[in-house]
Amino acid sequence: MGHLGALDEDEHAIITTVAEFVDKQVKPVVQRLEHGNVYPEALIEQMKELGIYGLAVPEEYGGVAVSMQCYVLVTEELARGWMSLAGAMGGHTVVVKLISTFGTQDQKDAWLPRLATGEVRATMALTEPQGGSDLQALRTTAREVDGEYRVSGAKTWISNARRAGLTALLCKTDPAARPASRGMSVLLVEPGDGMTVSRDLPKLGYKGVESCEVTFDDYRAPLSSVLGGEPGRGFGQMMKGLETGRLQVAARALGVGRAAYEDALAYAQTRESFGKPIWKHQSVGNLLADMATSLEAARQLTLYAAREFDAGRRVDMEAGMAKLFASEAAMKIALDAVRVHGGYGYSTEYDVERYFRDAPLMIVGEGTNEIQRNVIVSQLVSRAQKG
Ligand SMILES: Cc1cc2nc3c(=O)[nH]c(=O)nc-3n(C[C@H](O)[C@H](O)[C@H](O)COP(=O)(O)OP(=O)(O)OC[C@H]3O[C@@H](n4cnc5c(N)ncnc54)[C@H](O)[C@@H]3O)c2cc1C
Repeated sequence: MGHLGALDEDEHAIITTVAEFVDKQVKPVVQRLEHGNVYPEALIEQMKELGIYGLAVPEEYGGVAVSMQCYVLVTEELARGWMSLAGAMGGHTVVVKLISTFGTQDQKDAWLPRLATGEVRATMALTEPQGGSDLQALRTTAREVDGEYRVSGAKTWISNARRAGLTALLCKTDPAARPASRGMSVLLVEPGDGMTVSRDLPKLGYKGVESCEVTFDDYRAPLSSVLGGEPGRGFGQMMKGLETGRLQVAARALGVGRAAYEDALAYAQTRESFGKPIWKHQSVGNLLADMATSLEAARQLTLYAAREFDAGRRVDMEAGMAKLFASEAAMKIALDAVRVHGGYGYSTEYDVERYFRDAPLMIVGEGTNEIQRNVIVSQLVSRAQKG
């Protein structure tokens, strides 16, 4: 694990602990959970005990806020075992970052200690049935009536929605505002009357963890539920939160890509054809060489973006590049791992078919790769114009 060099001893130990958890607890049960589409309750409990839910929460609120570089490598380890475990952490971490960065003191006191232990798990709700890329066109509204918000609208693809005790809801508190982004807010909402998790969406991969439709029908939320206490700032807050989200998705792709590469490397040494291990056939050897090269490039790009984040710089472009490159790399590595495994690559008794089904999520989730390219080019131009 040469990439651990930049971390201090404590962070190194955290990653080693998570790697052991994955090898000893996750790998033996992942096929049963995956193919039964079973929520990994016991593994999530162990993750809570290991402190993984508190890795983004500042110490004064009961967490052990590690560097983004460490967080990325922890996520890679989880996803190496099962992408769904890392997925269960994604929205949670974004919400933790949103509250610790933008929350009022009351919001920090109320939520962060319980988010740190995993007693409360969080998700974020942005996407709507008519579209997820064009967030400024979203239709969910929170109207102020008699000193509270009345929320109406529909969200979809919300991960962890059934188990989340807290949802960071992106909505319009001033639907007439122009540009629309100025009328948007993040509300910190809890399950209650008027909020219904209506359906679990059937999925290609990301099994075991639910992704749901959620409707709000005259749901009531206090004015104090606005992140940061002041409406109209939600779009900018969420864009900052998505830097973390996109780094997390890039790291999930690293985990899936690494698992696929490692399985292929091992298989290519034991499987023989024409009297030799298949890695000695140049076509197979080249696949392995390209897998390892693109995986390492993806990891370095992700760690670079994480370092920039740790330095306190804006990283929408860097996180976008990492998410774009790492997810496309993971998809290709997963397909090539199927090739290396021959017919067994297509068997549900092996893990490689799972990597192949999980990889596309990182291409679509947290802003599609087409949207990442838009973010990247607009930053390229804006930074060029600033000189
Ligand atoms: C398993 C899963 C879990 C998810 N979890 C969550 C969650 O927890 N919370 C949440 O809020 N969302 C979640 N999502 C939703 C996800 O973020 C959206 O699916 C994604 O942002 C794309 O939105 P869309 O599906 O509406 O596609 P659309 O916005 O309809 O896009 C369709 C296609 O058009 C392209 N496109 C659209 N606009 C442009 C443009 N301007 N330039 C170039 N191409 C464009 C897109 O790239 C895509 O290829 C999840 C999705 C999945 C599959």
